[in-house]
Amino acid sequence: MEPDLPFEPYRIKVVERIHRVPRAEREQHLREAEYNIFRIPSAAIYIDLLTDSGTAAMSDRQWAAMVTGDEAYAQSRSWDEFERTIRHLTGYRHVIPCHQGRAAENLLCGVLLEERHVVPNNTHFDTTRANVEFRGAVALDCVCDEGLDPDSDAPFKGNLSVAKLEAAFARYGDRIPFVMMTITNNSGGGQPVSLANVRETAAVCHAHGVPLFLDCARFAENAWFIKRRERGQADRTIEAIAQEFFRHADGCLMSAKKDALVNIGGFIALTDDKLAERLAERLIVQEGFPTYGGLAGRDLAAVAEGLREVLDEEYLTYRIGQVARLGERLAAHGVPFLKPAGGHAIYLDARAILPHVPPRRFPGVSFTAALYLEAGIRACEIGSLMFEHVDPDSGALVSPAMELVRLAVPRRVYTHTQLDYVADACARVRDLGDRLQGLEIVWQPPALRHFLCRLRPIGGGRLIAS
Ligand SMILES: *Cc1c(COP(=O)(O)O)cnc(C)c1O
Repeated sequence: MEPDLPFEPYRIKVVERIHRVPRAEREQHLREAEYNIFRIPSAAIYIDLLTDSGTAAMSDRQWAAMVTGDEAYAQSRSWDEFERTIRHLTGYRHVIPCHQGRAAENLLCGVLLEERHVVPNNTHFDTTRANVEFRGAVALDCVCDEGLDPDSDAPFKGNLSVAKLEAAFARYGDRIPFVMMTITNNSGGGQPVSLANVRETAAVCHAHGVPLFLDCARFAENAWFIKRRERGQADRTIEAIAQEFFRHADGCLMSAKKDALVNIGGFIALTDDKLAERLAERLIVQEGFPTYGGLAGRDLAAVAEGLREVLDEEYLTYRIGQVARLGERLAAHGVPFLKPAGGHAIYLDARAILPHVPPRRFPGVSFTAALYLEAGIRACEIGSLMFEHVDPDSGALVSPAMELVRLAVPRRVYTHTQLDYVADACARVRDLGDRLQGLEIVWQPPALRHFLCRLRPIGGGRLIAS
């Protein structure tokens, strides 16, 4: 085999100027945003690693597909191509277009969930958890134990624990209407799920007469990990591996804003005729006619092209390699993060970096705010602000297992040099040590509070003590 290429498998055709605003302005932005990074204007951000969702650079072919997209209301040519591409990839007969991933979740949960239902998943993504809980159902995380250990470098830390799933079936029985697996496991560190694990999980679900849905936003990255790490998979194509995990499951939900390399889009695909019919009925009310589902024809065309491009192994090797390289530079600085590096992001271990800040004081938010202040970089807390929740058994407020800061790398957007700047800045913030203070919430909405809440440094003091 030829060695992996050390650089991007593309050349740059269009560029967008970015500016680093002066520190004094960053300080003002942070104060005006009340320390919530989601509220800072994008023009004031130098390197934006808030998310890899909808932030990809599209290819010349995708832009060409957009121009030639068919905007007919019903049965457009772009819809045909969208449907054909997804059917070929997943093997599922029914394709339901949605404007993004959470719209797909909303449709599926709206049709299948009732109060007291329980939905097992390896780890629910935030919008998935919100959509489950909104129906009064319980979102049950069943990730394997290695997935909860920040220092384990097991190859498939995204795996769902089959033992935990069996225990859930034993305990909740017919309160479980379906099971989900998130691939890669976004909230669990962008860690992959093995083919063997999808196969076993599907077998357990089917033994209980319950369907398995893949939350497959990063299916191609997951397939790349399987090819590199799972025995017997090295000689298969990314497409063949993906087709196999789709075959074991009964359907999937996808936020196309990730591995379809587009800025907006999503879909549900599935085998069940009856369920597809019920989803399509709701779709017309909520999203749009079943051949566009809240998207323009050009968006459908760009998704179809993106779903083919993302299967390019050279692209995936560069993409996942770029994230790994960021991890290596952080490791060289001794900045602790979740090992091994995820497919789309590095997850810094905020609890280890700021041991003096308890979960209730949001160490991940504190680090994120300081990283913006020091270097103009935007990252995202994935910890107590995002995932603190009421335990269904005890009724107590519990923090998630880890306090993380996610550095999500947009696809085909930043260069190695820019990510070196990020790693060096993270080390500088880590060096602030116990001068960095925790925060408290001033105001919060009832759900998904991390998007909109307002905070302040504890007691209204300074974020960085002198
Ligand atoms: C992004 C994401 C979603 C939600 O998709 P949106 O397009 O942001 O609505 C759901 N699940 C996973 C795993 C995701 O990464």
